[in-house]
Amino acid sequence: MLTFDQVSKSYPGGFIALDRISFELAKGEMAFLTGHSGAGKSTLLKLISLIERPTSGRVLINNVDLKRIRRSQVPFIRRDIGIIFQNHRLLMEHTVFDNVALPLVIEGFTGKEMVKRVHAALDKVGLLDKVRCLPETLSGGEQQRVGIARAVVNKPPLLLADEPTGNLDPELSKDIMRVFEAFNQVGVSVLIATHDHSLVARMRYRTLTLKQGKMINDGLLQYEEPL
Ligand code: ADP
Ligand code: ADP
Repeated sequence: MLTFDQVSKSYPGGFIALDRISFELAKGEMAFLTGHSGAGKSTLLKLISLIERPTSGRVLINNVDLKRIRRSQVPFIRRDIGIIFQNHRLLMEHTVFDNVALPLVIEGFTGKEMVKRVHAALDKVGLLDKVRCLPETLSGGEQQRVGIARAVVNKPPLLLADEPTGNLDPELSKDIMRVFEAFNQVGVSVLIATHDHSLVARMRYRTLTLKQGKMINDGLLQYEEPL
């Protein structure tokens, strides 16, 4: 599904945000991407979603080298990737329905098919009863689930999440992770960037750990009891 082959990324000024990163994420696999703030997690996700380009090395999605993607083709690649942000970036003056429908509207869906898909996405995150609400009337955890529904409404085979539980307490964080697990269980590949080590260690998924732009671990994290 996703391949990083000796990928490095330097930002203007020469700062090396990623240093020769290699890994593969299989179709239907779920993994965490962890490391302290500034380790390079967001940069790695931006290379997948074509927001940034690698300085060297190759990023492939379904064996397509993203370097070969022309600017005009970028929207077609992005259509296959659902992205979830920490601050969910919802349109606050629009209803939950409108927020979730947005990617479908961009793709030209209308009428019954659009309504059916929006309802299906909201059902999967357990928010069907909030379809007519404005986001500001929802709790933080519910707003994040609207963000997830919007990311999955196109049924993308790959989900990327950047600190999806950053603003949530531990109990709500676990709920959000269960939502990701449910998508993974129906075959979606999921990569979740988070600095929440204890949550990651408890969930027993493959964990890629970055430190100052280098990959220092790829496997299960050891769970340490909090003091
Ligand atoms: P993380 O998501 O793990 O916190 P980032 O990928 O956001 O890490 O950042 C990695 C490093 O790259 C940080 O030191 C950050 O300051 C730097 N960086 C990120 N984006 C830019 C940019 N657009 N220009 C210059 N430096 C950047
Ligand atoms: P949390 O404790 O997770 O932050 P809240 O106390 O914010 O949750 O919200 C609890 C419930 O009340 C949620 O289902 C939310 O949709 C509803 N709610 C919160 N604020 C409003 C509001 N201003 N109008 C209507 N419903 C609200």
